[in-house]
Amino acid sequence: MSNEILRMSRLYMPTLRDVPADADIASHQLLLRAAMIRKTASGIYTFLPLGFRVLRKIEQIVREEMDATGALEIMMPALQPADLWHESGRWDDYGPELMRLTDRHAHDFCLGPTHEELITSLVKGELRSYKQLPVTLYQIQVKFRDEIRPRFGLLRSREFIMKDAYSFHDSQESLQETYDAMSVAYGNICDRCALAWRPVEADSGQIGGKVTTEFMALADSGEAELVYCECGYSANTEAGACVAAPTVYAETNIEATGQTREGGELLKIATPGLHTIDELAEFLGIPASSTVKALSGKDADGVVHVLFVPGDHELNEIKALGAVAGFELLTDDEMRDYGLHKGSMGPVGLPAGTVVVADSSLQAVSEWVVGANEEGFHYVGATPGRDFTVDAWADLCIVKPGDGCPECGRALVGARGIEVSQVFQLGMKYSESMGATYLDKNGKEQPFIMGCYGVGVTRTLSAVVEQHHDEAGIQWPLAIAPAHICVIPLTVGDDEVYPKAEEIATSLARLGFEVVIDDRDERAGVKFSDADLIGWPLQIVVGKRGLAEGKVEVKRRITGERYELSVDVLPEIMSMATARMKSMGKGGITVFEGLFS
Ligand code: ATP
Ligand code: MG
Repeated sequence: MSNEILRMSRLYMPTLRDVPADADIASHQLLLRAAMIRKTASGIYTFLPLGFRVLRKIEQIVREEMDATGALEIMMPALQPADLWHESGRWDDYGPELMRLTDRHAHDFCLGPTHEELITSLVKGELRSYKQLPVTLYQIQVKFRDEIRPRFGLLRSREFIMKDAYSFHDSQESLQETYDAMSVAYGNICDRCALAWRPVEADSGQIGGKVTTEFMALADSGEAELVYCECGYSANTEAGACVAAPTVYAETNIEATGQTREGGELLKIATPGLHTIDELAEFLGIPASSTVKALSGKDADGVVHVLFVPGDHELNEIKALGAVAGFELLTDDEMRDYGLHKGSMGPVGLPAGTVVVADSSLQAVSEWVVGANEEGFHYVGATPGRDFTVDAWADLCIVKPGDGCPECGRALVGARGIEVSQVFQLGMKYSESMGATYLDKNGKEQPFIMGCYGVGVTRTLSAVVEQHHDEAGIQWPLAIAPAHICVIPLTVGDDEVYPKAEEIATSLARLGFEVVIDDRDERAGVKFSDADLIGWPLQIVVGKRGLAEGKVEVKRRITGERYELSVDVLPEIMSMATARMKSMGKGGITVFEGLFS
């Protein structure tokens, strides 16, 4: 970035005092208010000069980290022919999120939501020998997804910037190596953007393949739910293995039912009008975790399966699909036709041929409180092996805070996050369907083993603001701030304050800082509030009173700390700061250690 001084009077930065009505989270509001972005249409934004400077810095960080892995930058078209998508099968699979269009010759195209097809066709036939592998190519480019609910500004938009990389390999080991290197680079990108983040195990969703990690910027406004543990384990709740610790049935208030129970026998109790787990648990005076919840579905062949999970957990349908191929929940009508009673399903007395699958955590529960397959009745003390058979145990639950960590057993902690990036091991999904092969050592054609890796560049920008702001505005981390230092002369029309401010700005720019000077003829209050709103990391206030004592005031945006510094030593301190020298006076050290930390 050039070191010309930016002049606020010449900057196009229409900041807003009021919170825009349709922006409901901090980053969205502040990016609009601080004149970083403007909305063009739902989920479509323009970057204004300051926002664009930030964007370019994030792109540059991403580029440096990619280049450091040996990946090579290219640029593919956003406009992609439908033929490629027919080859991979995704023209039909992708659904309405894919922006489709037709050219004047009636040929179908789409605006790329991601570029697996294009890159696979690019290397097909030209990347021929195992000797050339591995190869990783990347681009930083605009992507299009017709999101059903664009929201939160840049976090979920319809046009956004992604860095996408694709790697080609001749072995799983080689893929793993690149995948690991990319994961390190992704962590570095988050660190350099000053994000608090966690890598989490995830489901691979639309793209295909199995091994994948998402990089989550922690934020309460994030759409993703995750759990993590002190031991370092973390997971998206959709994908995380659940080691739910159900409380083993101990005592129930059977008296409420007017019945008694001697030993461990199976007892049918009347539970009229109780349909939910909570109602049942309350009636029996036990926690929901001591009950067992049942869900019915059918597999790909139409065979009915009843799945059991601890009463305080929800079935994870993605896991259910993993346990039962083609699993689909039964509709109410299907349940009735098959002879199942919604609200009182259980493993004892199911119609013949029904397959019973239970969450692995229930192996520890010897007496189940569960439906009796009879409207208005439940069983207490239903015992696997004695009263019914479990055909398969599987990991079935949506994990939740408090569940045991699958690695170490400690209780998992819950958090919310913004998925800023993701790495995938694609395997041969695209190379096989699109016939992209290389010649191995023996001269035999083999499909490439592939990986793909995406960073949401614009989403990262928003996530940074989500984590770094206060009531007054954005607190840009130094590495990606639109400029490092804002020099604020309190008056502009005189021949003392303003020239001094210019002089300071010039000397700082010469030292390599990106400097902006607020040369507008505005009240001090306006300048201060704009400076805080925009979020320059360092403000240097030059006023008449201070100058009379040869001083300026320096403010760190992130902490709000203010220091009086002598004008004479300022350039010197700054110059020492650039050299990262730390043997200076107190104020200087704190300011600049912070600045360069
Ligand atoms: P999400 O689950 O949030 O819809 P995704 O998993 O579909 O995202 P990927 O296909 O993994 O997204 O794309 C890589 C990255 O691109 C994401 O990690 C995210 O940072 C970014 N991204 C995806 N969709 C959007 C969007 N609608 N707006 C902004 N960034 C996005
Ligand atoms: Mg993703």
